Parts: sequence; C-alpha cells; structure tokens
Amino acid sequence: MKYAFSKRVRHLQSSAVRDILKVVNQGNVISFAGGLPDEELFPIAGLQAAFEKTFASGKKALQYAETEGYLPLRDVLIERMKRKGITSYSANDVLVTTGSQQAIDLFSKVVFNPGDVILAENPTYLAALQVFESYEAHVIGVESDEHGMIPEDLEEKVKRYRPKCIYVVPTFSNPTGKVWSMERRQQLLALAQKYHVIVFEDDPYGDIQFNKDEEYAPIASLDKKGTHVLYTSTFSKTAVPALRTGWITGPYQIIRLMSQAKQANDLHSNSLAQQALYHLCMDYDLDGHIQMLIREYDARMKLMLGELEKANLPGMSYVVPKGGMFFWIELDESVDTTDMLATAVERGVAYVPGSPFYVGKGKENTLRLNFTHSTPEKIEKGMKLLTEVLQENRQEIITP
Ligand code: PMP
Repeated sequence: MKYAFSKRVRHLQSSAVRDILKVVNQGNVISFAGGLPDEELFPIAGLQAAFEKTFASGKKALQYAETEGYLPLRDVLIERMKRKGITSYSANDVLVTTGSQQAIDLFSKVVFNPGDVILAENPTYLAALQVFESYEAHVIGVESDEHGMIPEDLEEKVKRYRPKCIYVVPTFSNPTGKVWSMERRQQLLALAQKYHVIVFEDDPYGDIQFNKDEEYAPIASLDKKGTHVLYTSTFSKTAVPALRTGWITGPYQIIRLMSQAKQANDLHSNSLAQQALYHLCMDYDLDGHIQMLIREYDARMKLMLGELEKANLPGMSYVVPKGGMFFWIELDESVDTTDMLATAVERGVAYVPGSPFYVGKGKENTLRLNFTHSTPEKIEKGMKLLTEVLQENRQEIITP
C-alpha cells in the first residue's frame, strides 16, 4: 500500500543527528545533547503533596475542564508575571497550553497562511522553526550579535518582507545561551510598534538567572498597552517537563482565537497537572526551589567553563551564559561538528551539532552543550573526552 500524505509533512524529516542521539539515550554515553533539567533536582516531595491535595479535593478534579486552563492557576501565573513587570493582562488573557511548544503551534495555526513571513534570530530554537515550517510560513533569519538582533538588519528586513511576526528567545536563549541588552529589547519593541508587527517572546529560561544583580525585563513588560507582544513560558525548566504545562498571554483577540484552535486540538491541557501545579505554587516554596536550581546550574556552568578554558582550542569562541542551560560554541572553521558526532559518541560523549538551529544553511563549525543535566563528575569526564576528540579532529585536518 502506498500511503498518501499532505505536502506539509515534507518538513518533518528525521535526521542523521537524531538517529545518532537516539543511541545516546540508550547507551553509556555522557550526553550534553538534550535540553534537559536534572531529574535528581526535581521537586518530587512537593509534587507528590500537590497531587495528593488534588485527588483529595474530590472527583471533579478528574473531570473535563475549561479550554483556557484552570482558573486559579491562571491567577497565580498573572501574579508571577506581575513580578517580572508584565502587568497588562488579566487571567482572561492567559491560555494554559501543553508546554510552551503548543503555544508556538497554536499561535502559528491562527496567524500564518502559507508563504507568510516570520523573522527569527539566527540561530534559533529548532523546534520553533519546525512548527513555523509545518504551517508553511517562510522564516527569515535576522543578524544578531551578543546583545541581540541588530536593529538595522531587523528594520531592513521588516520593510522588505512585511513579516507577520518576529520570534525571539531574548533571555538565555536556546541554542546560544545569550541574553539581550535592554536597549535591543526596547529597539525591537519600537520597531514592532512602528511597523505593526507582533513580537512572539519565548521565555522558558528567564527564571534560571545566575547573576541576581542584573535585570532582564521581558519585552512583554515594556509593552505597557499590551498590544504588540505575546509572551510564553513554561513549568518545564522550573518544576518538571513531564507535566507538559506552559502558558501564553498577550492581546486578547489572539489568545481567544488560539483558545478556539486549542478546542479543536485537544479540548484542554492535562487538568490534573494544572491543579497540582497550582497547589505546588501555593503550598511549596517554588521560588526557593528555583534558587536551589540556580545555584546548582551556575556551579555546573562554571565547571564546564573551566574545562573549556583549559582546552583553549585555537579558533574556539563562546559567550559565558548568564543563565539558562546552554553553551554555544563556535570552533575553527575547518571543523564539521556533524561529521565529528559519530566519533564523539563512540568515545562516550554527545553534543548537538549547531547547523540545524540555523534558518537556511547553518554554520557547520558550531555546537550546543547542555550543562544542567549531567552531574559535576560527568561534566568533568565528558568535557575531557570532548576536548580529546576536538584536538584529534584538528590535527587530522591540519595533517591530512
Ligand atoms: N521554547 C524554547 C526556546 C525551548 O527551549 C523549549 C524547550 N526545549 C520550549 C520552547 C518548549 O518547552 P515546553 O514545551 O517543555 O514548555
């Protein structure tokens, strides 16, 4: 039987990298590849108590629920966002989603016609690119430096392509770990307002900030009228990913349509998880838990940084992450990290090659390293293995 599929699925390719990384998860390899939090640090007792409270609240806890999400949780989210300066919205403007991944999907579903343009940083979050492409949106990369998108390139591309949206991960981004300066945030918003474009601000990592003295206002907090920014975040990095609970807030007209699209999609996100997360926020010291994660992840980042400094490979560059979960490394131009992956995995260490994160042709000499999932011992061991592979790879290139 020959099965017939829609044209859309041509974007859903499996890749050689994915096939190699599948092996990693089964074997004895130290993996810096996934974007995973450390399960050893999960708030298990708090979650257990939160689920017990949910079950004790009666059978209705197990019934179908509102598409928009559990209202008490939405109220909590409004309060938590207010602390970040996002004050333009009420619980009616919040849609609870199945992870922020679904927020990206629902937004794309209600906004893009095939061929519509979206601007994004380059490189950017791979799974967002996959969503935009699945709706046949045309993604155009904007030039960036360590402070964020370059305003001149952004404005030029806004004028040339008339995009419907600008997608950004401005705080400890995936994959680059970068954080935008305040000036660039303001410039982006000013351009969005001038040219009537929506900014989609994806902020899963904002809470994992290592230096408390610096302040990174979400772009949504600068949009005082609440007209130009959609803001999404998630419990995946601060509580646990398995609950698949994220949320989105922004202009009501968009949120309402997304909610209608969600009805057709899955009726509502897991409501047991939402009720448990509400209890977790109310009864458990989630902020204290996040502080513990920050201390632990900061220490792991510094350990990885130390190993990178020791390796000191010619041509290697990176920005020291101020939060989040990733190092983004650029190597000597002669290195091809996709080619090198199979050898690294054979030696017992894995990473993600950087090129798939790019819009269009990516830089083959880049890679992403996650520093949150591995224990300090594994970070030390894995980085030594990786350094060896990188050094050998260089020598092979120099002396063929
Ligand atoms: N956006 C970014 C930038 C991410 O890195 C991730 C998770 N890797 C997500 C969205 C999706 O997260 P979740 O669906 O678990 O909330």
